[in-house]
Amino acid sequence: MQKVRVRYAPSPTGLLHIGNARSALFNYLYAKHFDGDFIVRIEDTDMNRNVEGGEQSQLELLEWLGIYIDESPIHGGAYGPYRQLERLDLYTKYATQLLSEGMAYKEDNGAIRFKVPKGKTYVFDDLVRGQLSFKSEDVEDWIMVKENGIPTYNFAVVIDDHHMEISHVFRGEEHITNTPKQLMVYEALEFDAPKFGHMTIIVNEQKKKLSKRDQNVMQFISEYKASGYLPEAMFNFIALLGWSPPIDQEILTKQQFIDYFDGTRFVKAPSMFDRDKLKFINSKYIKSLSVEALSQFIKPYLIAHQIEIKNDTWLQQLTSVFQERLHFIEEIVTLYQNFLNQSFELNEDMVSFLKEHQLQKLIETFELKIKTIDWSPEAIQQSMKDISVSLGIKGKPLFMGLRIATTAELHGPSLPNMLALLPKETVISRLQYTLKLW
Ligand code: GLU
Repeated sequence: MQKVRVRYAPSPTGLLHIGNARSALFNYLYAKHFDGDFIVRIEDTDMNRNVEGGEQSQLELLEWLGIYIDESPIHGGAYGPYRQLERLDLYTKYATQLLSEGMAYKEDNGAIRFKVPKGKTYVFDDLVRGQLSFKSEDVEDWIMVKENGIPTYNFAVVIDDHHMEISHVFRGEEHITNTPKQLMVYEALEFDAPKFGHMTIIVNEQKKKLSKRDQNVMQFISEYKASGYLPEAMFNFIALLGWSPPIDQEILTKQQFIDYFDGTRFVKAPSMFDRDKLKFINSKYIKSLSVEALSQFIKPYLIAHQIEIKNDTWLQQLTSVFQERLHFIEEIVTLYQNFLNQSFELNEDMVSFLKEHQLQKLIETFELKIKTIDWSPEAIQQSMKDISVSLGIKGKPLFMGLRIATTAELHGPSLPNMLALLPKETVISRLQYTLKLW
């Protein structure tokens, strides 16, 4: 069997868009499933659109996502150069050949057009959509080399895919109508064409095609990175945009994705860019981190928002209190600020719980006790134990009672950890407020 070699071929227009990341990822997964190579080729022939630093940021963000590159302008490789503008001689050679064989012709301004053969049908088996066919009548003679001598995408891509021994091409469905033009060039030059798979479009929550200009949806990988989405979560989410695994599971490891991604199970219907699903997946990955590791992700966001990190222990307490609630790491800032500033109000259920279990004494004693202790989770925990023994209150009335009286919540993370994050005076005044119920 021919070695699997795939490529992701971005124009260096700057930011890595979610749709491009999906193209890269599907190619990568397919290559790794078959122990093949994943190549990045830079398609920089549209010079007006090239952005300084665009290539580097694309490569860095791919690797951040865990899409490791075997060959590229930076990684090197045996099939280079990997930038189209460095391959112009090669395109010229084939353009000259097609001209001399009468399969292309020059215009007055020097541009070269491909002469579309008459009465032909171009058929290919698309890996996503099945058999597709196009009639040559529907395609006009098209420009393959512009008057400035630079090839167009449809011409250069064929030469490059052939010379780089690309076996499979997964790309966006906007390229379906380019495929017959490319097949014509393969045929004219007597090259074998790779297998193509055109992935379904990505739509927004209103079912409209996701447009890069839509300001309401964050669409660039760098923005997700900056907000504290984990690369493993992004990888997981993107892999499910137009493909589904054979098991009923939404969270998979990278190795599972590689194992299952065998070129089947593509989804033909548009895939929705569902932000809640992305948040959900990210929160799952956040929950699976150790407190230690998560605290290191949290730290820079606190620093950036001038939140004082008292010491490592404090940072870990904060982390363990909010780990279950975080959807993305930057959210720590608002969660923590709301936690400090929230108004304290007890609802009916809370009030009836406190009254039913006659917890006035418990709250009074706790209020007196904490006035005398060091303000640490350990000391708070110890006070709770002491009071439990002296008043003979334990279990739910003890724990839920104190939680309600200090946080106005029925459930939550470790209470001593939570309380130690608040100023002691705040907790005392909440207890005093609660005591007014009687
Ligand atoms: N440079 C093209 C793009 O960014 C590549 C398309 C292809 O994969 O053939 O859309």
